[in-house]
Parts: sequence; C-alpha cells; structure tokens
Amino acid sequence: MQAEIIAVGTEILLGQVVDTNSAFVARELAEAGIEVYYHSLVGDNADRLTAVLEQARSRSDLVIISGGLGPTKDDLTKQTVAQLLGVKLVEDEVAMAKIQHHFAVTGRKLTPNNRLQALYPAGSQSLKNTTGMAVGAFYQSLNGADMLLLPGPPSELEPMFLKEALPRLKRAYQRQEYLVSRVLRFFGIGESQLVTELNDLIAHQTNPTIAPYAKETEVTLRLTARAEDEVTGQHLLDNMIVTIKDRVGDYLYGYGDDNTLAQVVVNELIARHLTITAAESLTAGEFQSTLGDVPGVSAIFPGGFVTYANEAKHVLLGVPEKTIDEQGVVSEATAKEMAERSRQKLDTDFALSFTGVAGPDALEGQPAGTVWIGLAQRGQAAQAQLIRLTGTRAKIRERTVMTGLDWIRR
Ligand code: ATP
Ligand code: MG
Repeated sequence: MQAEIIAVGTEILLGQVVDTNSAFVARELAEAGIEVYYHSLVGDNADRLTAVLEQARSRSDLVIISGGLGPTKDDLTKQTVAQLLGVKLVEDEVAMAKIQHHFAVTGRKLTPNNRLQALYPAGSQSLKNTTGMAVGAFYQSLNGADMLLLPGPPSELEPMFLKEALPRLKRAYQRQEYLVSRVLRFFGIGESQLVTELNDLIAHQTNPTIAPYAKETEVTLRLTARAEDEVTGQHLLDNMIVTIKDRVGDYLYGYGDDNTLAQVVVNELIARHLTITAAESLTAGEFQSTLGDVPGVSAIFPGGFVTYANEAKHVLLGVPEKTIDEQGVVSEATAKEMAERSRQKLDTDFALSFTGVAGPDALEGQPAGTVWIGLAQRGQAAQAQLIRLTGTRAKIRERTVMTGLDWIRR
C-alpha cells in the first residue's frame, strides 16, 4: 500500500500560500498506518496536472489531490481527473440543493460554474463538504490507483478528510491490526550519538519501527509496533525498550508525548516526599518557573531565590563576599555556597544553584556558556559541576535549566 499526495495550486507553487494540506494529510495517514511515498506540487494547469497524475497513478495505490475543486476557471482538478479516468462528471443532488439554497438566500444568480462544485467523477463516492460548497470524491479503481479529491481551503479539507475520507480509507486499506506506539524521551545525549548507539537496531527495524526526533534540548524515539492484538504489540515494544535501555538507559528520563523532564522530576519528588528550592543567577528564575509549570508542584517547592547580582547573593543568601571576590562569581565555590545556603534558608531536602555566563559577552574572563551548577542535599556536602554550553543566550539558559533538572533526576 503506497499513497502519494499532490497539492494543486499556482499560489502554492509561487510560495504565496504554504502547503499545509499535504502535511496535515500525511500526518493523518501515518497515524492510520498508510505509507506516503511522494509529495508533489503542481500549478493550476491541465496539462501539467495530467502529467503529474499519470506519473502518480503509475506508481502508487492511492493518489490524494488537494485543491482545485472550486467554481473558478483555474479549478481544473475534477475535470482533469474525470478525463484521465475516462468518466463523466455527475451531480450530487444534495450538494446541488445546498448550493441552490445558498444562492437563493444570498440573492445571487447561480452560474454554471457554481454548479461545478456539486459535480464529481462518475463511479466515485461523493464526499460531503460541511464547511464549504465543493464536494470531494473518493474513486476506487479496479485496475489502477484509487483517487481522493479534496478541496483546497484547509478549513474545508481538514473536516472532510477526517469525517468523510479517513473512515473510507481505513475500510479500504487497513488490515485488521493494531498499531501501538510509545515515545521514549532522552536528555544529555545528542541525536547523532543516540543513533550511533542504536545504529544496528535502527538499520534493521521492521517491527517495531524506531523513529528518532531531535528537539532543541532533547531527543525522542518513537517506537511503533504492529500486531494482531494490542497485548502482542505492547510486548514487542517492551522487548525493544529493554534492548534500548541496555545501551542508553542512562539518558532515558521518561515516556510519552508530553511528559517533560520537569514533570518527571516533580512527580518523582512528590512521590518521595522530598522538597526542593533553587538559587538562580544566570537563569534568573527560569528553573523555578519551569518547576511552576507542573501541576502539584507546591507540595515540594516552597519557593526560592533569584540572585542575579553579587549583592543579592550576599544579602538574600548570605554568600560571603570573600568567596565571590576570591573565587569568582562563576565558580565551584560560589555555586556550592548558593546551593547550600538556599537549602538551609528554606529547610528543603534539595537545592540547586545556577551561576554562569549567559552571554553574549564573557564574564570574569570566562566565555559565554560557562556554567556552574550546585547541588545541596540534606545531610551531605554540597557538590557542583561545570558545564560548557554553546548557542544563544536563551539556549544557554534553557540548557542550564534542563541540566539541573537532569541532575536531580539522577
Ligand atoms: P475554492 O472553492 O475556495 O476555490 P478549491 O478546492 O478550488 O477551493 P483552490 O482554489 O485550489 O481550492 O484553493 C483555495 C484556497 O485554499 C487557496 O487560495 C489557499 O488559500 C488554500 N489552499 C489551497 N491549497 C492549499 C494547500 N495545499 N495548503 C494550504 N492551503 C491551501
Ligand atoms: Mg479554487
């Protein structure tokens, strides 16, 4: 089963409109387990559309075409497809009544062009347009590719695809099988390193499939298994996850599409009844704000400190001026002092501190991206780690926060 998508419209070809329809349809097809092999884009031109359609028909089982179902002169999709299939256009009476009603209500004169919107290639199923006038069509061929015609405006295409087309596609193509998937979330390992560690698994993937996806600060893997029942599918996933954990389990922090590192950390602290605070210099509260995004955080986070200037570190936390003067503000000693003193002030189980150079300029002779993170834990001497980051000021601060969260998680 191979599908392909053709977006029709000169305005898309010229870059005036971005082709969101193909992306939408492709995502939905992937979700339904229907594989897409090609995307094409062609202007409102009958000859070129015919050429693209012929090529598509020769290599795919299903050709999905968006755009050109409307009433204007440049809307050629239905006529072109009908000609290619060697069928006539026939009228959808319900759609025609709707168009006539619309024109009666608005007091406009119905032109032959407008009637075109109710036509569809004979032999296909007409697809209702609940947000516009032009009907779509699904043509199932006995000996060639099937064709699905959808309107151009996303406000019409999306509901028609979901309500009218997708159920038909599923009936036509889906084998009775279950697709189960799980997202694995990693931090502290780059996409290329992760892919290298899992190279052979990814190269030989069939079931489950493994799809890596790199975001700004983390990498995810989506595993998808197919099976005749859900339990077998989950079992296939579990087995693959054991293998993956064996190799890169250290970096795996959680599962699920929207399970963030902050959520994992906060939920873990809640479960263990452990409290946390923070003293933040370069991140200026971003760590605490990230914690604050998680519902229920108040159980483990009483509040904390934003100590940007040296004076604030001294006045609010009691970091000795001597430490800062002698060791520097971006130093192991200052990071440890900030962490331990903030922990004591609020009597929490943990405290993190962040002091570093967000950039773009250097500080105390240290380049942008130099960051010390301190960790104080009740009953233990404070520790600190040095990280060196690159990127914009915003990225350096975000990665600092993520690294702090990851340290707590471990
Ligand atoms: P109409 O009845 O509005 O003419 P139609 O089915 O004939 O609909 P087109 O004329 O091709 O569709 O496109 C109408 C509008 O829909 C375009 O001007 C554009 O704004 C939007 N559109 C068309 N194709 C796409 C696409 N692939 N992605 C996003 N928007 C699109
Ligand atoms: Mg049009």
